[in-house]
Amino acid sequence: MHVVIAGGGVIGAATAFFLAERGHRVTIVERHAIAGAASGKAGGFLALDWCDGTALGPLARRSFALHAELAERFNNPWDYRRLDTFAATASARRSLGGRGHGLTWLAAEAVVEERLGTTATTAQVHPAAFTRGLVERSGARVVHAVVTGLTIDEGAVRAVETDAGALTCDAVVLTMGPWTALARAWLPLPPIHGLKGASIVLDNPSELPPHAVFAQVETAAGGMQGPEIFTRPDGTTYVCGVGDKQSLPADPAVVAPEPNAEASLRAILEPLAPALAATPALVVQACYRPVTRDSLPIIGAVGDIDGAFVATGHGVWGILNAPATGEAMAALIGAARPPIDLRPFAPGRGAH
Ligand SMILES: Cc1cc2nc3c(=O)[nH]c(=O)nc-3n(C[C@H](O)[C@H](O)[C@H](O)COP(=O)(O)OP(=O)(O)OC[C@H]3O[C@@H](n4cnc5c(N)ncnc54)[C@H](O)[C@@H]3O)c2cc1C
Repeated sequence: MHVVIAGGGVIGAATAFFLAERGHRVTIVERHAIAGAASGKAGGFLALDWCDGTALGPLARRSFALHAELAERFNNPWDYRRLDTFAATASARRSLGGRGHGLTWLAAEAVVEERLGTTATTAQVHPAAFTRGLVERSGARVVHAVVTGLTIDEGAVRAVETDAGALTCDAVVLTMGPWTALARAWLPLPPIHGLKGASIVLDNPSELPPHAVFAQVETAAGGMQGPEIFTRPDGTTYVCGVGDKQSLPADPAVVAPEPNAEASLRAILEPLAPALAATPALVVQACYRPVTRDSLPIIGAVGDIDGAFVATGHGVWGILNAPATGEAMAALIGAARPPIDLRPFAPGRGAH
């Protein structure tokens, strides 16, 4: 079977990888760059049990296990590692007292409230390296083109149309992240939106331990912000937490941070980790999370059109949930039973 994957983010990459494992021929069509959107700019934080009690729980648990398996199988080319994860608070307006938290890279005045995860339950990958690594290992052909539509004949997908010509196929998987919204003109899909967030990657002033910190910071102006900080084994630290309401541009290549994004992130970081706040930024970037109305991803066959599949809307957990999504999609396309129940993610919900 020849399967075309529209969009080379982490969801397309994982789907390509697991389809190839099942012996299918795969072509990925990407208009900008593999991992050029959110999948290359995310934090890469992974949690075993943070989705427990929701419909995402089984997808997250299966994905957390697959991340460990894939890293081991391929000798970890994407900086997978386990982390200790903490909740912390800091203020630019008043002293919180510190209470001797022992996390030496945080301000002594910051308060570490609790441990949110241990090396048994939290981990990370470098998201761009993970996405590119899966594409490479899938052996998929990558076509640099814009997907513009589908050829559907007698109730079945026959080809994927692009600005470089049509690609005949037996099935298509739409994995264009927030841009999957464009496909609502071709297929019955629920609404999908993009939620923008900015991040910076800092050169560590000294070697930092494997930590993730989810913080609440009172800014000098008196507002509360929630930065997320992940140290990385490559000697950098990733910081995100500033959102903005700018709507999704049609072209993923033009996504850029707001002019004040770096200054805002540094101001939020200052009371929490002053040495980091003064460290040069290697990258200042922004990306859009693909979000749905009910905050659940859209994974499965579309309508009653043979060969039409979608996998998107993974919101804040796309890097975590990519492996089990790809594994389940590959099973579904191969007419096998997916290892996890995909019914909560049915594309048909809310379609009109
Ligand atoms: C600031 C930030 C931090 C995050 N941190 C984490 C985290 O720590 N852990 C976690 O699990 N998740 C995190 N996420 C979420 C995660 O990044 C996303 O859920 C995930 O990357 C979505 O992957 P995707 O493949 O669906 O979409 P994308 O990465 O957006 O990929 C879609 C691809 O489709 C391509 N495309 C679009 N239109 C077309 C077209 N017409 N033709 C061909 N190609 C097209 C795009 O160029 C793009 O490459 C974060 C997100 C943000 C914004």
